[in-house]
Amino acid sequence: MKLAVERLKDVAEAFHYRISRDWWGKGFADLEASGVRLDGEPEFEVRARALGEKVYIEGEFEGFLEAECGRCTKRYRHALRDSFRLVLEPLGSDRRPADPEGMEALERSGMCLGEDLETGWYRGGEIELDALFSEVISLEIPLQPLCGEECAGLCPVCGSIRSEENCNCEDINPASPFAALASLRGKREGSS
Ligand SMILES: [Zn+2]
Ligand SMILES: [Zn+2]
Repeated sequence: MKLAVERLKDVAEAFHYRISRDWWGKGFADLEASGVRLDGEPEFEVRARALGEKVYIEGEFEGFLEAECGRCTKRYRHALRDSFRLVLEPLGSDRRPADPEGMEALERSGMCLGEDLETGWYRGGEIELDALFSEVISLEIPLQPLCGEECAGLCPVCGSIRSEENCNCEDINPASPFAALASLRGKREGSS
């Protein structure tokens, strides 16, 4: 996914990129293997302009995953959404990435990202945005997928999904404060 930096003006211009399943499969194969699948095709809206020698890039990312909730085990649609903003400097003799990987990325794709994802370098008239998109997406991948903050998970007694089934296990639910108190009292009485 390329951006012709040589054609940028000092007024921001909008660009649209769509993440294909193919591209996703290459970069996020591990995620796919773990059962988190891409749902649809994520999209990047990018605005870019050049001021002097610097290139200013900002935009938004939106997409969906199909993941399994860590609490109730239900598969659900997980929304990915983030915005980004960075400034790229041209590769110069005095200013350049310190690590060899950075120089390699510059040679290969025309762009090298700084560690903070807010700065970077570019060289040549055209850069590849793939590394940027990968980073933005990676930051949004949930470490612990949850179908909702309020997800009540599974009933520890009968194993049913609490948000979907109204089981009547409340009375013997060990997580209830009364049950915990009762069992504590029972233990104390037993040990005395
Ligand atoms: Zn859940
Ligand atoms: Zn139950």
